[in-house]
Amino acid sequence: MNLILFGPPAAGKGTQAQRLVEGRGMVQLSTGDMLRAAIASGSALGRRVEGIIQRGELVSDDIVISLIRDRLPGLAGSGGAIFDGFPRTVAQAEALDAMLVQAGQGIDTVIRLVVDDLVLTARVEGRFRESGRPDDNPQSFAKRLAAYNRDTAPLIPYYRAQGKLVEVDGMADIQAVAAQIAQALDSLG
Ligand code: AMP
Repeated sequence: MNLILFGPPAAGKGTQAQRLVEGRGMVQLSTGDMLRAAIASGSALGRRVEGIIQRGELVSDDIVISLIRDRLPGLAGSGGAIFDGFPRTVAQAEALDAMLVQAGQGIDTVIRLVVDDLVLTARVEGRFRESGRPDDNPQSFAKRLAAYNRDTAPLIPYYRAQGKLVEVDGMADIQAVAAQIAQALDSLG
């Protein structure tokens, strides 16, 4: 089972992915976490992406596609992948489809956490103080949300056309969102 957790920044994708890792033996593939690890390690890649991430802009498609490509072979034998924060553009989605087809697999479902932009902005204001993430500040967050609406939202019709999109209420509390996701996954069998 391969699934995409889809939604704007701070919609709760990472939190829900963690629950699926613990509950279903799935593997979380978060390009954001991979890029933050590269920055923390001081690698050439980390130095290349640090400013981009801090400003709330998107890293280039080829960088994140190759991060995911490197991880796919390691999924064998797991309960499947949860793509968290990837794909974020149509080009990334097309590349992911092609990589999975090559591995004899595919995306089973795309779970979209539906949240309201205004509620989201209010919700993250509390997080800015605690998160310690350099891109959790009003200016960068506004840019991340704009990038989502411009570059990532086109994936909604992309996956709807493939019949894979499932929408859940991302504004409910964590448990209720988890229950909706569990129901969606269980109904796939
Ligand atoms: P996230 O932790 O998913 O919110 O990602 C944090 C930041 O990493 C984003 O604001 C982007 O700058 C960068 N990033 C993560 N995933 C991607 C992606 N799939 N495409 C482009 N940039 C990404």
